[in-house]
Amino acid sequence: MTETAASRPWLDTSLDVRERAGLLLAAMTLEEKVGQLHQIPNADPVRDAEALAAGAIGTTLVASGEHAGNVRDAGTRARAVTGLQRAAVTTSRLGIPLIVARDVIHGHRTVFPIPLGQAASFDAGLVRDAARAAAVEASADGVRWTFAPMVDVTIDPRWGRVAEGYGESAWLTAHLGAAAVRGFQGDDLGRPDALVACAKHYVGYGLAQGGRDYAEVDVGPVTLHNRHLRPFAAAVDAGVGTVMTAFHTLDGTPMTAHRPLVREHLKGTLGFDGVVVSDWDAVGELLRHGVAADLGSATRLALGAGVDVDMVTGGYARHLAELVRSGHVPEALVDDAARRVLELKLRLGLFSSWEVDDARAATVQLAPPHRELARRAAASSLVLLENSGVLPLAAPRRVHVTGAFAQAREELFGTWTLDGRGEDVTTVEEALRERYPDAEITADDGRFPDRTLVAAREADVVVACVGEHPSRSGEANSVTSLDLPPGQTELLVALAGLGTPVVVVAVTGRPLALGRVASLADALLIAFHPGVEGGRGIVDVLSGDVPASGRLPMTLPRSVGQVPIHVGQLPTGRPIPAASDVVVGRYRDSSDLPAYPFGFGLGYADVAYGELDVVPLDGAADGAVLEAGVTVRNVGSRDAVETVQLYVRDHVAAVSRPLTELAGVVRVPLAAGAAERVTFRLDRGSLGYRDSSGALVVEPGEFTVRIGPHAGAGPSSTLSLEL
Ligand code: BGC
Repeated sequence: MTETAASRPWLDTSLDVRERAGLLLAAMTLEEKVGQLHQIPNADPVRDAEALAAGAIGTTLVASGEHAGNVRDAGTRARAVTGLQRAAVTTSRLGIPLIVARDVIHGHRTVFPIPLGQAASFDAGLVRDAARAAAVEASADGVRWTFAPMVDVTIDPRWGRVAEGYGESAWLTAHLGAAAVRGFQGDDLGRPDALVACAKHYVGYGLAQGGRDYAEVDVGPVTLHNRHLRPFAAAVDAGVGTVMTAFHTLDGTPMTAHRPLVREHLKGTLGFDGVVVSDWDAVGELLRHGVAADLGSATRLALGAGVDVDMVTGGYARHLAELVRSGHVPEALVDDAARRVLELKLRLGLFSSWEVDDARAATVQLAPPHRELARRAAASSLVLLENSGVLPLAAPRRVHVTGAFAQAREELFGTWTLDGRGEDVTTVEEALRERYPDAEITADDGRFPDRTLVAAREADVVVACVGEHPSRSGEANSVTSLDLPPGQTELLVALAGLGTPVVVVAVTGRPLALGRVASLADALLIAFHPGVEGGRGIVDVLSGDVPASGRLPMTLPRSVGQVPIHVGQLPTGRPIPAASDVVVGRYRDSSDLPAYPFGFGLGYADVAYGELDVVPLDGAADGAVLEAGVTVRNVGSRDAVETVQLYVRDHVAAVSRPLTELAGVVRVPLAAGAAERVTFRLDRGSLGYRDSSGALVVEPGEFTVRIGPHAGAGPSSTLSLEL
């Protein structure tokens, strides 16, 4: 042991993290413990020198895009963080480093598709790899904590934050959220390129009334447990290090003060032993919610509820020590919260390696393998909704590319892109030129339709890149209309009248109601903001170099009036005749069916599903109680990647269960003419459900199992299971 380790026994790495945190905690004053629970934005070694020396800051959130002046020298940020850590470690009594946090949501310098686009790939490996790449890049700037993934289940496309999540299926959100956690955190949180992940926003945030961000949520306990808590439980199982509470009130109680769900359910029942952080100023917002008269009461409520770290309000810093001294808050609560933060710092290896290697950023950020991955992710995220046969493009001689996104750069990034740079982007126009060097490519942004029409008339094919600017989705960016922004449908109407085939690429942060657009297009591709390699990824799919393989992670409604409409809906007592596409349902002015169902997406080859075999199993070593299998065959002439989806329905239970629920996915590459057997194994738990207390209930009886290309198709079998 070094001399330092002798006087600071918690530095002894031969001890386990729990023991080390205990030793450190025992050496701390109450104020120092409270300091660990205080997160400030953009800490500065000079401005905050006094607080750092006092050990009064535990963590900092690098909130601005202009971190460290955003200078071009790649190592600058690393050096800035090292300077900050030096101040924290060398000027304070106990030498505790900070955790530097940032919203690394879908990439860092290499921007990947928005999470909703990543979800459209239905590919957990891709989500994990993208998160890993983001972690490698962000950690090179000294960031070790990301506020991602968002695992709120999103059923309302008006809500701007659907862009940040993995869509409407609890199973898919859980599956991809867990993959993101594994990617960000890597195999070992102690490696300098690991980020601790944060599952957010706990819980039910996706149900904001009317899609209005931050609005109240009312949801019953069965739906809460089965749909909204499920991805958080999966994140905990995947070892997520932190969880963020949400802004909203749930049945009248703000989540930041929700003791039953945070302290009792998350930390108790689910056994989460990491750090719970409030959302930005959410401790202070308890006053505005009207559940606390002053910041002291808000502090007491939040810590009591189980929120360990106060993000930026400063309520804990100002009031907690006094609340303990006056007997209003038990010191044990502060100790437990501080222990969690200290254990996280120890697990991150920050005590031994708080200095950031300033050479790493230049080699890892936007490294060729990351760009490659971003390109693959972009191509995999694209969902082909319509195709008259114009795609893939067959050696076009003359292409006119138009619309607001034809020459877009940053606009391809999507919400929460703090570190991407427009100059890194290849536009759709440039990617077309790259791919078709011998073709004549003309381009405009569609703002002057008269000019566009002249060029479009001359072309073999028009690629119209329309859609929503990133500022129309994301936090506090909700909408009341799911149509294209003004002017764009008009452009498509004019183009559709020319006789030149029109391929529409709809770049968007949410599912839009694209029925009208589909009727004007010869082919329609959705590109959820696809990131830095979006231009190339789009052209990879338009050209057929990469098969179209994305699937809808959210149902596409016909109109905003159908919202919410999603795959997890329960049966009514008065069912609508199945598959009717006419006005026979409950709306007098619309079909009840969506424009496109959950899981839908075309490829360039037809894939046929054979007969379904479902075999109940008894005593299988892996705990499976049934195996379902089907043979899928590529009957087309091009290669395909088929996203084979498993759906389950439990017909009779003590509570009404969804009409159909996604329960598994396999992506199968299928060369032209090839066939493959796909099997799924389900355990008891995945055939059960949670009751209102959150307990798992598995009831024997009738189940329907279906394997198909989306939520509304494929062979099914109904069988009785003993379970
Ligand atoms: C958002 C969070 C984000 C936090 C920190 C909040 O406004 O709701 O998702 O992580 O800010 O930037």
